[in-house]
Amino acid sequence: MGKRGFIFSPGGFNSVIEELSKKYLIYAPVLKVGEGRFTDTDVVRYDFVNEVADIELEKKSDYSFKEILTPLSQTLFFFTENDVKEANIDERETLVFLRSCDLNALKRLDQIYLKNGREEDYFYARIRDKVKFVLMGCEHSYEDCFCVDMGTNRADDLDFSFSVDYIDNKFKCLLKDENLSLVFANNALKEEEVIPGFVTENDTKVKLPKDVPLSIFTSDMWDEYTARCIGCGRCNYVCPTCTCYTMQDVYYTDNGKVGERRRVNASCMVDGYTNVAGGGEYRKKHGDRMRFKTMHKIYDFRKRFGYNMCVGCGRCDTVCPEYISFSNIINKVTAEIAKTDELKEVQSEN
Ligand code: SF4
Ligand code: SF4
Repeated sequence: MGKRGFIFSPGGFNSVIEELSKKYLIYAPVLKVGEGRFTDTDVVRYDFVNEVADIELEKKSDYSFKEILTPLSQTLFFFTENDVKEANIDERETLVFLRSCDLNALKRLDQIYLKNGREEDYFYARIRDKVKFVLMGCEHSYEDCFCVDMGTNRADDLDFSFSVDYIDNKFKCLLKDENLSLVFANNALKEEEVIPGFVTENDTKVKLPKDVPLSIFTSDMWDEYTARCIGCGRCNYVCPTCTCYTMQDVYYTDNGKVGERRRVNASCMVDGYTNVAGGGEYRKKHGDRMRFKTMHKIYDFRKRFGYNMCVGCGRCDTVCPEYISFSNIINKVTAEIAKTDELKEVQSEN
């Protein structure tokens, strides 16, 4: 794939977006005024756009892009007494604007849905095949981001169609998809080298644990979260790397033989997630759920796939109604492990 840099005026880049919107659905962060958690607060979440003015280029999105690939509720198929019919999906191609942490999160979603077993997840793959990505450069770090320590502050080597940085009233784009060369060349002010913006430092720092002793799983450090966490699951729903789902059958008839099957996002922090046949329920304490989530994000996934699941987007910190900070939890795990190591050293000296 060749790479070419283009510089656009706002009008020129808008013409590119208008032209692309004839072929693609364009899905990007949008500022939703007055739709935030509290009265008179805003929220940035993903929606379809037709022009540049609709895209929130400055603020970090509170919710992630993942809803385009793993909708909160997705009808998979309809069933009647004798037949099953797969649900239709929008056949148009989609272009998704996202930042470096989220493009790295896409790698985690693909890992789980496409490469975590003998078969690809069919319902994920059929949407994924239609989606391409636009990398939004980061000119500065945002509140709660810790992408640098998670190694997700850059995405140059990942697959995207083009990048976009809005600097000094100009749009700077690095084009990788040669199929878009004509529309870019026709609307640009000039061609010049472009490097997508990325940050090299965040205010929030994390120190990741390397080796994890079993003692961390029984540590009393998790009790704090039994007391503080209310098990609302908001942290999971905003997380670009959380992939858990559950199934729901919705019946149209009393005999339960006609209806639809839906795949619905699930949360490991919410009551009911671990319910099993026979009335069993695991991780009842919120602290145990926090331990499970934390170790999955910074240990279990890495053990299996060689890299961490968490991308350090910081959204879970921002959204938590109890002000629980995931970056703090990572640092506490590392400190707890260091304490255990020190204790072992003292014991072996004695
Ligand atoms: S765990 Fe939190 S910081 Fe890590 S990827 Fe998920 S939302 Fe982002
Ligand atoms: S950590 Fe915060 S956002 Fe997550 S379930 Fe607990 S209270 Fe809710």
